[in-house]
Amino acid sequence: MAKDSVRITFLGGLGEIGRNCLAIEQDGRIVVVDAGLMFPEPTMYGVDLILPDFTWLLERRDRVDAIVLTHGHEDHTGALRYLVTNVNVPIYGSQLTLGFARHRLTEARVAKDLTFIEVEDGERRRIGPFEVEFIPVTHSVPSANALAFSTKVGLIVHSGDFKLDLTPIDGRRTDVSRLAALGDEGVALLLCDSTNAEEPGFTASERSVGSALRRVFLERPDRRMVVACFASHIHRVQQIIDVALEQNRKIALMGRSMESNVKLARKLNLLHVDAAHFIDVENISRYAPGEVCVICTGSQGEPLAALSKLSRGDQRFMKVSDEDTVVLSSHPIPGNEWSVGRVIDDLHRAGTEVIHSGVEPVHASGHARQGELRMFHQLVRPRNFVPVHGEYRHMVHHRELAHSMGLSPEHTLLCEDGDQIEITPAGIRRAGQVPAGFHYIDGDAGEIDERPIEERRMLAEFGVVQITAGIDAARGTIVQPVRLSARGWFDGETDRKLLATLTEEIRGALESALREGERDDAALNKVAQRAAGRMLGQRFRRQPVVLSAVAVI
Ligand SMILES: [Zn+2]
Ligand SMILES: [Zn+2]
Repeated sequence: MAKDSVRITFLGGLGEIGRNCLAIEQDGRIVVVDAGLMFPEPTMYGVDLILPDFTWLLERRDRVDAIVLTHGHEDHTGALRYLVTNVNVPIYGSQLTLGFARHRLTEARVAKDLTFIEVEDGERRRIGPFEVEFIPVTHSVPSANALAFSTKVGLIVHSGDFKLDLTPIDGRRTDVSRLAALGDEGVALLLCDSTNAEEPGFTASERSVGSALRRVFLERPDRRMVVACFASHIHRVQQIIDVALEQNRKIALMGRSMESNVKLARKLNLLHVDAAHFIDVENISRYAPGEVCVICTGSQGEPLAALSKLSRGDQRFMKVSDEDTVVLSSHPIPGNEWSVGRVIDDLHRAGTEVIHSGVEPVHASGHARQGELRMFHQLVRPRNFVPVHGEYRHMVHHRELAHSMGLSPEHTLLCEDGDQIEITPAGIRRAGQVPAGFHYIDGDAGEIDERPIEERRMLAEFGVVQITAGIDAARGTIVQPVRLSARGWFDGETDRKLLATLTEEIRGALESALREGERDDAALNKVAQRAAGRMLGQRFRRQPVVLSAVAVI
């Protein structure tokens, strides 16, 4: 690493929405920005969450000075519990960001010896080898920040997750004048949120969701209203509460994270509602439908969350019916569409009316669209640019946008997880690669690698075939005949025929190996597996997991 350079290692979030994490390094000292998780796709069977690969970071743990959090979303803080047990360094962030993070770390019983350092909006702090400034930005969680690092090669600005909402619920706008001032000073590198870089125009203000919710509520004065949204979206919760109180409804909170986040936000004076307006879920049945508003978790169709339980009739104190209107104040994260669809179906089955963002504007994104991204680039006017926080296509579109704003291609880099870049006074360049694959967490089993996931996928898609046979070593003959048993196959003519043909194929392969003098147990099992794999794959386009128990007697 050159002496007058700063190195950035992207550990996650470049190529997927989730597990955001990067390391910024100068003179051998490292500051980590965010440590997020990602939720698995439905075909990642048994996987609960996905983490960044922290190997590179752990090998350098003595050189890590701090973790800085941009905001409190899980895709930026959810992997902390796995990182801080190995890298115990101070964690910086806004009061709410740290409040959310600390709560999760306490639940995981790893918060005890950690140091949390709260920062104010606009504050500048010496963190590791850098001076770091925390710049307020609007997003779908309060108290989000962009970061400006003063480094030996100049300013490096990280946008964090943001939109340019000029009418935010708390009046805390993105500090565009500060961003412009940094632009005047000269910004060496911009790292910027790409989530909505494919979308033209501007993201609607969070306030517009309030108006839509008000209309939906006003049209249904006698119905029980159930609104699902992200528990961290305190401004959404505030607007739901405000609209409900205008109709003199009582508020019932459903879902553990909704209860704890509302409690914390009220304590920090970020959510304004009198305690007298809340009722316990147990007492809901005492109120007429038009007197209640339920705010719940589960807007992503999570099977264990409150809304899923309601949709299946599994909620102890409340059953939804044709007297209820459920509002999904959310948009499914890619991968969750199917689960959300099931929940909506089940609600319909119960006779419930369902309103989602496809029919009413009851949701607004927290991420900047092209218009806002252009504005951000114009304010910051970076010399170099790397798109972050997005799937690959989002980053491609964001880079094109940067070019259209006047940056030349040699001053932009399209990076992916694991890429390292170096910034020098001359520009940016690629500087290497580090391991950055998915790290899967499977409940109590903890971390598992790609192989079992791939096997589960094959099991799910093609089932399993078990081969048994017995070989007489002295005679070189098959004494217990080749038998196959299968799971995940259907009991019909086609599969029975296939198994019979397969049995013949394996028997032939074993006999020919025996004729050539092969007697080794492991080798004969491999012969059987290979014969089965070859035939199933090439002739029948199936790839079941093949288990072989050929015994040499
Ligand atoms: Zn994010
Ligand atoms: Zn976010």
